[in-house]
Amino acid sequence: MAERMLKFTELAQQTPNKRAATQRREDFAEIYEEFEPPQAEAQASRCSQCGIPFCAVNCPLGNNIPDWLKLTTEGRLEEAYELSAATNTFPEICGRICPQDRLCEGNCVIEKGFESVTIGAVERYITDTAFEKGWVKPIRPAQERAESIGIIGAGPAGLAAAEALRSQGYQVTVYDRHDRVGGLLIYGIPGFKLEKEIVLRRWKWLEDGGIKFVLNADIGGATSFASLRKTHDAVLVATGVYKSRELGGPGSGLSGIVPALDYLITSNRKGLGDAVPEYESGHFNAAGKNVVVIGGGDTAMDCVRTAVRQHAKSVTCLYRRDKQNMPGSLREVGNAEDEGVTFTWLSAPEAFLGDDKVTGVRAIRMHLGLPDASGRQSVDAIEGSAFTVPADLVIKALGFDPEDLPSAFNEPELKLTHWGTLKTNPKTFETALPGVYAAGDIVRGASLVVWAIRDGRDAAAAIHHQFAHSAHAQAAE
Ligand code: FAD
Ligand code: SF4
Ligand code: SF4
Repeated sequence: MAERMLKFTELAQQTPNKRAATQRREDFAEIYEEFEPPQAEAQASRCSQCGIPFCAVNCPLGNNIPDWLKLTTEGRLEEAYELSAATNTFPEICGRICPQDRLCEGNCVIEKGFESVTIGAVERYITDTAFEKGWVKPIRPAQERAESIGIIGAGPAGLAAAEALRSQGYQVTVYDRHDRVGGLLIYGIPGFKLEKEIVLRRWKWLEDGGIKFVLNADIGGATSFASLRKTHDAVLVATGVYKSRELGGPGSGLSGIVPALDYLITSNRKGLGDAVPEYESGHFNAAGKNVVVIGGGDTAMDCVRTAVRQHAKSVTCLYRRDKQNMPGSLREVGNAEDEGVTFTWLSAPEAFLGDDKVTGVRAIRMHLGLPDASGRQSVDAIEGSAFTVPADLVIKALGFDPEDLPSAFNEPELKLTHWGTLKTNPKTFETALPGVYAAGDIVRGASLVVWAIRDGRDAAAAIHHQFAHSAHAQAAE
């Protein structure tokens, strides 16, 4: 093993080729290219095969990283794929969009001094190759089961649960109010981070495995939640969080101030070839405009970079803290800077200017104060520091809160947490309603794809445990 692995002292870290900023500003294709086989094998060989692999400890899925890196180095790619797929439902997606700098790679022991192993890029390479070679087979349960499970939400949590339950033989139907499968993977996250074909490929794979999808189905709207409970033996709620946090201040109701997700959904639909009147009318189109995005998370980064690709005249990101204290991935900030986005750190909007349509944002400079009980520094406005940024389009990217599901589903018995997320038993994933389970952002609050996958898989295991247990109990009677 030692001969092939532990190459980190002699071989430098190399990430997949990144397209030049001038080129990638012109389209919505992914910015990183795929590793070539020799490059993937060489980069995987940098792993030092740690006894306690901190990469895996800090991967929410506990992926068996050192072993699939070793198999990749040895060219045993089909085995690497099997191992990787055993713990991750969508490895090629996580390989592309996990914030690896905060998870596996950020905790790789060779990071100190030698730069981490490029775990995400290898993970993506393994499964993309597996698809290419035809190793990714549809789900074929060993035996069919009679119980039927309804899942509300075709995002990563719902899909991961659907795959795990179908593999056990359950009859699985996934409902979504959108017309395509994927949740935020298809309509939130832009193509330059995750090309849509990758999500559509998984949709087909799930359907080929016998999972049924009922789309354009708004549960709580045209289809009642109660009717779903009657149709299925168990229901899993995986509806995500979508209520946009609002801006306050004078002028915040002006036309031309839009929520981030509406803006991104329009852009993604356009990219998928749909007719999108909101885009054609210019309401959600940044072309030729001075664009100001307010916020510092992943959503804000996706908005600024989308606006660049729509040929905005200028793109400015206003964030009230500094670069070191922003919630978004630093890698994505770097990509946005390269693509021409201006970041105005330590600035917050005070008022929106214009008569009926926004023409500018009056902002004020902030400074960071002492840390509070949670360790986060306070932010205070600096008096007399106001300045104006011209703006024809303002995008609000301040984060998301959960919908009031007990009202939306007309189920007052559903219990909520202090944060408005669904309250579940952390072991069984069951809500206050018997036979109703929940997973993903609607339980955790706005989080990450990898955590949604983990929650979906764990919820499926809990549901299976419940049914298997009651079958045993009945057999014993
Ligand atoms: P979702 O993906 O939100 O899926 C929920 C699904 O439920 C949706 O399809 C919705 O249509 C459906 N639904 C909701 N209500 C109903 C109803 N009443 N009836 C029927 N269907 C319903 N995470 C990362 O790890 N990396 C990133 O780079 C990243 N970038 C992001 C960029 C943006 C713009 C956003 C908004 C989020 C990003 N995230 C990222 C976070 C990540 O997308 C989410 O944490 C993850 O998608 C949550 O999965 P989920 O399945 O719980 O919910
Ligand atoms: Fe890293 Fe995410 Fe893959 Fe885990 S799932 S190994 S955190 S890229
Ligand atoms: Fe390999 Fe880094 Fe994980 Fe250690 S921490 S096993 S070097 S990838």
